[in-house]
Amino acid sequence: MNSDIEKILVSEEEIAKANERLGKELTEEYAGKNPLFVCILRGAAMFMMDLIKHVDIPMEYDFMDVSSYGGENTTTTGDVRIIKDLDTSLRGRDVVIVEDIIDTGYTLDRLVKLFETREANSIKLVSFLDKPSRRIKHVKVDYIGVQIPDAFVVGYGMDYNEHYRNLPYVGVLKPDVYSTK
Ligand code: 5GP
Repeated sequence: MNSDIEKILVSEEEIAKANERLGKELTEEYAGKNPLFVCILRGAAMFMMDLIKHVDIPMEYDFMDVSSYGGENTTTTGDVRIIKDLDTSLRGRDVVIVEDIIDTGYTLDRLVKLFETREANSIKLVSFLDKPSRRIKHVKVDYIGVQIPDAFVVGYGMDYNEHYRNLPYVGVLKPDVYSTK
């Protein structure tokens, strides 16, 4: 285990099981529909690439980079800025938004509203992690990998100051890391 990690919250085995289950559910839901999976960068990149290996139907994917953080790295501000937009038109598409984690709900709330204006046929949400105790905006997340308690997590695509994304599990950092990085 990485020496900056205090505790593993979601192990590699649990991650693999969640992806297999979600992939099966999405395969059933979208059979015959050629869905467009939209990966929200950068946190959801690792999750999406694992997830779609279990989606056993024709599908397409695209990437969107949004930022939901202000100056501080561990608090959400409610502002969502588009850094890189999609290359694909959403008109008439069955869209699956793929997120790493839903916390306050601001990011997904804003994205769903934006995508509705782009005339998608349907919009569903998949989030690998869910921190329900922190929710401010009520957003219906259709598929959730794992529910976690209120803690700032890193790994499996998620960062602290752009580090730790490459960890194959989800963990909590040791408190002293915040003062040194
Ligand atoms: P929300 O808008 O729901 O508050 O936050 C969603 C975004 O905030 C996520 O896509 C993620 O980028 C970031 N975020 C929320 N909680 C965490 C966390 O515990 N760890 C990391 N690394 N990012 C988080």
